[in-house]
Amino acid sequence: AVPLVVAKSTALSAKHGLLIKNRTAFENARKITTVVFDKTGTLTLGKFEVSKVVSFNKEIKQDDLIRLASALEQNSEHPIATGILQKVKDLKITIPQAQNFKAITGQGVGATVDGKRVLVVSPGYLKENKLAVPGEYQANDTETVVFVLIDQHLAGYIALSDEIRAESADAIKTLRQENIKSVLLTGDNSKVAASVSKTLGMDSFIAEVLPHQKLDKIKDLQINGEFVAMTGDGVNDAPALAQADIGIAVGSGSDIAAETAGIVLVNSNPKDIVSLILFGKATYRKMI
Ligand code: ADP
Ligand code: MG
Repeated sequence: AVPLVVAKSTALSAKHGLLIKNRTAFENARKITTVVFDKTGTLTLGKFEVSKVVSFNKEIKQDDLIRLASALEQNSEHPIATGILQKVKDLKITIPQAQNFKAITGQGVGATVDGKRVLVVSPGYLKENKLAVPGEYQANDTETVVFVLIDQHLAGYIALSDEIRAESADAIKTLRQENIKSVLLTGDNSKVAASVSKTLGMDSFIAEVLPHQKLDKIKDLQINGEFVAMTGDGVNDAPALAQADIGIAVGSGSDIAAETAGIVLVNSNPKDIVSLILFGKATYRKMI
């Protein structure tokens, strides 16, 4: 039986963009009952484009706001950072120096710029720190919003849009046909998560989760008897990927995620997960 598995898994890597690092992961693929997907970069393209910059303070111009934000984002590899940096490049804004940069994992970034302490953070960060989330912030349900804080005052926000991958809906549909549940797990805000989950016909979504909560959510599913595969790309996904019965790292993501996972999706394509499961099932059928 082993040579068949080897042959199958090698074929999968070549044809379906899967790098199988751990053969047990491939052998277990047929047991999956729930696939937990991260959003950015797997179900979506992970290419954020700035759609709106809004200042709450008349003394701070839109360009100032994104200029300050860009100084922080220069130190980050998050897809949101890439989107903000592209925008300042398009606007031909010179990026200032940032000191004392700090990443707030799964929530944003902070640094000192022009002598001011600047944070670019998620709505979840505002809630957790009991800062009022302004009711008037205008973003449609598909946009990710990050807030800019200057010396602890809410100065404005930047809205960014990402695109759902063309292959995602089909991948979710095939999973459903195989009686496999799909769950969206994301650090992004609930509105965006609800919108993506609904558009793709997923079973449920869990939003605004912090890195350690991702791990707990995987455990919860396992306690409920689910055999869980999880996709992830970030440094912050590594603990949850390790906890999942099968960890699947997205090829475009961080090295840590790839090291932790048993399988790497070379082309970051969710359809390749379906191939993995179907091939796993077919291989097992031939073996018995
Ligand atoms: P996901 O689950 O979509 O991969 P993350 O856990 O990486 O999301 O990030 C969760 C949220 O934290 C983002 O939606 C954003 O609001 C905030 N965030 C993370 N990194 C950054 C960054 N470099 N700049 C601004 N905001 C960030
Ligand atoms: Mg991520």
